[in-house]
Amino acid sequence: MSTLHKYHTFFSNHKTPFYFYDTGLLKRTLDEIKRASSPYNYHVHYALKANTNDTLLQLIKEAGLGADCVSGNEVKKAIELNFGADKIVFAGVGKSDDEINYALQQNIFCFNCESIPEIEVINELAKQQNKVAKIALRINPNVDAQTHKYITTGLEENKFGINLHELTEVLEILKQCKHLKLIGLHFHIGSQITDLNTFKNLCTRVNEIQHWFQQRGYQLEHINVGGGFGINYSKPDEESVCNFEAFFSLFKKFLQVQPHQQIHFELGRAVIAQCGSLISRVLYIKKGTNTNFAILDAGMTELIRPALYQAYHKIENVSVIQHSAANIQHFKYDVVGPICESSDCFGKAVELPETKRGDIIAIRSAGAYGEVMSSQYNLRDKVKSYFDTELN
Ligand SMILES: *Cc1c(COP(=O)(O)O)cnc(C)c1O
Repeated sequence: MSTLHKYHTFFSNHKTPFYFYDTGLLKRTLDEIKRASSPYNYHVHYALKANTNDTLLQLIKEAGLGADCVSGNEVKKAIELNFGADKIVFAGVGKSDDEINYALQQNIFCFNCESIPEIEVINELAKQQNKVAKIALRINPNVDAQTHKYITTGLEENKFGINLHELTEVLEILKQCKHLKLIGLHFHIGSQITDLNTFKNLCTRVNEIQHWFQQRGYQLEHINVGGGFGINYSKPDEESVCNFEAFFSLFKKFLQVQPHQQIHFELGRAVIAQCGSLISRVLYIKKGTNTNFAILDAGMTELIRPALYQAYHKIENVSVIQHSAANIQHFKYDVVGPICESSDCFGKAVELPETKRGDIIAIRSAGAYGEVMSSQYNLRDKVKSYFDTELN
């Protein structure tokens, strides 16, 4: 039985669709991150782009995580919510002059630089503000994240990061950049990585790259290994908190750390995905030629991941009480939204107990890259959100 059944009355009494967040689960996740990372003194940042809902950000900030931002407005959001400028990192291949100037004014901890022209522009803008900007080089380590091609970022063919063969040139350029201080290296190879071997491969590459810098006399204070730790989309209740112990201890085991060096992580999905569900109602059951369609009042405008990355999300009928399941017939449905696009489909041939108009359908593990990517295409209403704490 889904953990969401207990909220059925609340769901039924509210206009759908909306996001529902379990802040209790978020707190347990944050506690576990702290417990598993603190023995190694690791610094964990939260990747804001996964979800910027204020209530959730507040809890994440209170847990002491830093902020990993990929736009000027994310930096601004992190500043406004008091994450602390000294805990803000700023990545992204296309930082505009305005965004860089704002981050310089705020004295953020570090710019993660993704190209030579960007390095030159940050140096120039820092000069105008009479400042020295702290930077890390986002290096493309050419490690295959073994994940969907749209969420792979660490291969030479991807637009992200500086390629290894450019490093000599980068160091030459940095010697002339008087308004930059190189403090570290940054890596982020992709998202939804569930095979820990991929991170082991990353550690091996980072060790090699660090060695290359050491040979040239560079002592780097910070190594940021990015995020990308994946979650279990098939079992949102059984594995509601990721195995952070296995994740952090793998880096402890395989990453060669220099004395006084600080290790940073940037986790998004693993922090926030499991605590969010998209709650919707069945509008119609429509008979097709080979299949039945369950047409929901939520669509790709609320959750675009299935349409964008062919992502799987577990779909549950929260109206049918499953513990009397023995005599409930199950059928296969194509679960679709109302938007005028064929890709507006949450799942094909999804097995559900017999489903009727008005039933509440939960699309699970939608806390990351859900609400933040929602749109008002087709002039849809802006999606709302509720929290478990509002129930009393
Ligand atoms: C998106 C992103 C992250 C977080 O990725 P997750 O897969 O959500 O953990 C971390 N670092 C950078 C630079 C990113 O762009």
